[in-house]
Amino acid sequence: MRALHRNDPVSAPIALVLDSPHSGTEYPDDFDHLPPRAVVRQAEDTHVAELYAAAPRFGATLVEALFPRAYIDPNRALADMDAALLAEPWPGPLSASHKSELGIGLIWRLAHGGVPMYARALTVAEVERRIAQCYEPYHAAVAAALDERHRQFGAVWHINCHSMPAVGDVMSDDPGRPRADFVLGDRDGSTCEAEMTAFVAATLSDLGYDVAINDPYKGVELVRRHGRPAERRHSLQIEINRRLYMDERTLAKTAGFATLRANVERLLTALASYVRARV
Ligand SMILES: [Zn+2]
Repeated sequence: MRALHRNDPVSAPIALVLDSPHSGTEYPDDFDHLPPRAVVRQAEDTHVAELYAAAPRFGATLVEALFPRAYIDPNRALADMDAALLAEPWPGPLSASHKSELGIGLIWRLAHGGVPMYARALTVAEVERRIAQCYEPYHAAVAAALDERHRQFGAVWHINCHSMPAVGDVMSDDPGRPRADFVLGDRDGSTCEAEMTAFVAATLSDLGYDVAINDPYKGVELVRRHGRPAERRHSLQIEINRRLYMDERTLAKTAGFATLRANVERLLTALASYVRARV
C-alpha cells in the first residue's frame, strides 16, 4: 500500500510545507472494523487535501496521507496507545493521553458515536505493521519536506491541515458546542512565532470567517514534533469547520466547497507573501 502522496511545487519552491494527515480514504483489506464503513469514515477529515490542492502552484509542498485516520492516526504520539486494544503486552513504552481515554489515541478504540471499532483484540505484530507501513513513512515524508526547505531558506513554515465536526460530539472535549469557522492551534504559542498565528487569523477574518485560537483544538503530535520556533521552524494547525464544505453525514461536498476552496487559495496567496518577506 502507498502511505502518502507528496505534491511538490510546480513553480519555484518557497519556504512553505503543508500536510493533511487525516484525509486518506484508502481502506486496507486487513482493517476489519466492526461498525459500517459509513460510521468509521466519520473519523476522516474528508476532502481536506483537495481544499489545499493549489499549494504546489504557490511553490509549497503538500504531503497527504492516503491511509484512513481510524486505521492509525499520524497525529498522535507512538506511545499514545490504549493497552485495552491489544491481545498481548505492548513491547515499547506506553503513555496513554487524554485522547486514548476518549477512545481516539494512536489506534482508535471507538468509532463515531462511541461504538467499539473492533470485535476482537489486535496483535502487537499488526499494530507494528501499521506503524511501519503508514505512520513512520508519513512522518518521514513530512520531516524530509520540512528539512529540505529549511536547508534551502534557513527557515520553514508548516501548515498542518484538518477539518472538524460543526458541533462537538461525545468523543470531544466540548460535546454539544458549536465550533468557529476556523480553529488555529499553536499549542498555546509554543509551535510557531506569534506573528504567524496572528497573520493567519487576520487573513481569515478579512475573508469573513470567525476564528478561534487553541479552543477547542490546540494542535497535537504533528505541530508538537515539527514546530520549533527557536530554530525558525514554525508549525500551525488549521481546523476548518466541515459545515462550510460538506454534508457531515454523507461526506458529500456541498455548494460551499468551491467558495471555501477559493478562499483557501487566497489564504495560500497571503501565506506565500508572508514567507517570502521573511527569508
Ligand atoms: Zn484532523
